[in-house]
Parts: sequence; structure tokens; C-alpha cells
Amino acid sequence: MAESNNCHECLYLTKYNIMGIYKCIVCGWVYNPEEGDESGGIPPGTAFEDLPSDWVCPVCGATSDEFQEID
Ligand SMILES: [Zn+2]
Repeated sequence: MAESNNCHECLYLTKYNIMGIYKCIVCGWVYNPEEGDESGGIPPGTAFEDLPSDWVCPVCGATSDEFQEID
């Protein structure tokens, strides 16, 4: 069996490392990509950049424009 260079776990870890945590500047709610947004139907592991354009803050309804990346 040939070895695959596309190790799924490696790709997964790489993606995790580049996913930022974002904070709503209106209400202070934090979007953690490792957790996603259950109430908004966003599965864990979804990067902020990959959120649907109509996604809004589950607490105050602010659009993704109102979010700021935090360390
Ligand atoms: Zn908010």
C-alpha cells in the first residue's frame, strides 16, 4: 500500500494552528473555532473566515464585520 502524503491529522492540526479566535466588539462574546457556534449551526473546527456570510453573533446579532481577532 502506498503511503499518502496527505495525512489527514497533519492537515487538521495545521488548520487548527492558523485559526484565530475572534471577539464581538459589541457584546464581548468570543468565537472559538475549536468549539464553533452550536446555536448558529456552526460545527466545531470551523475557522472564523469560513463562517457563512449571513452568520451573526449569537448573543447580540452583530455581523462578522463587528468581530476582531484576539490573541
Ligand atoms: Zn455580540
